[in-house]
Amino acid sequence: MPPRTCALCNDARAILKRPKTGQQICKDCFFYVFETEVHNTITEACLFKRGDRVAIGASGGKDSTVLAHVMKTLNERYDYGLELFLLSIDEGITGYRDDSLETVKRNQQQYDMPLKILSYDELYGWTMDAIVSQVGKKNNCTFCGVFRRQALDRGAAILNVDHIVTGHNADDIAETVLMNIMRGDIARLGRCTSICTQGEDTIKRSKPFKYAYEKEIVMYAYFKKLDYFSTECIYSPDAYRGHARVFLKDLEAARPSAIIDIIHSGEAFEIKEDIKATQKLQQTCKRCGYMSSNELCKACTLLEGLERGMARAAVTDRARKKLDAEGPAPENLRQIPLFKLPANLQGCLNADTGVR
Ligand code: SF4
Ligand code: ZN
Ligand code: ZN
Repeated sequence: MPPRTCALCNDARAILKRPKTGQQICKDCFFYVFETEVHNTITEACLFKRGDRVAIGASGGKDSTVLAHVMKTLNERYDYGLELFLLSIDEGITGYRDDSLETVKRNQQQYDMPLKILSYDELYGWTMDAIVSQVGKKNNCTFCGVFRRQALDRGAAILNVDHIVTGHNADDIAETVLMNIMRGDIARLGRCTSICTQGEDTIKRSKPFKYAYEKEIVMYAYFKKLDYFSTECIYSPDAYRGHARVFLKDLEAARPSAIIDIIHSGEAFEIKEDIKATQKLQQTCKRCGYMSSNELCKACTLLEGLERGMARAAVTDRARKKLDAEGPAPENLRQIPLFKLPANLQGCLNADTGVR
């Protein structure tokens, strides 16, 4: 049988089957459609404006490495006029993050972008290794997620950037939709498909890979020969997310559009006004100044639990009460440095060029 020609250019030999559409295409057409779809996602959602300083949340893994590569490519191709930075969080996980950060340092050279690394240790006085030794491997990802979110904002503030982009892909978002349904978490279900989150007083955060399939990101990294780190965290991912992941992979095998279909379903959910009214208003943490829906932000509460040797309990509202019942926090309690926002800019991209 003669070699199949590319379904897009009808010229070169098709060497891959596109996971998202099943089309048999050549390598150059794959790069082009993948990058163009990300560009379309960016422009349709008006993610940037010319002159924005944008930090790419970089872990050294495939998603953020491909994101850094594609952001650099699109910024040059369409003249977005963005200043790009790499921002890495060092959770302090020996044998995992220390190795993946070496990859980010090489990416810094390869992509010629300034890099800022901020560690849990310098910010909270605790590494994940130390946290796991106190809380065990059950709730560790809760600590890690809360601490990382705040660390990224703090790193962005140090870099004086207005916007953080993360490598969350379509599979991650579809999994989150499924998890929020399974947990009945209405508040998160309402916002988990947003491409961009920005409260009045937060640094903008967005997901340019919202519609990019994980399999295509892996293919892109492979064919572009990108330098990335592929080992899983030694403290193993959230088991509940694992169930959603396996379920999603089964659905994808039966019908590849399932991933996008779930995202579209998530986007179509509307939260009833009376449910919205029960959601807490944003305020500022009275201890560290970070955005919070309670008097104390989650990171301060978790840190207090760790410092007072009650960390196992410190992840729920009930646990907060238990901490309070033990008496006020000691005067000399370790505190997270005061959070200050960088100067923020507003604006929107032009759909033709990607810039205003
Ligand atoms: Fe942190 Fe859990 Fe992810 Fe490991 S798997 S990096 S502990 S959130
Ligand atoms: Zn082609
Ligand atoms: Zn706080």
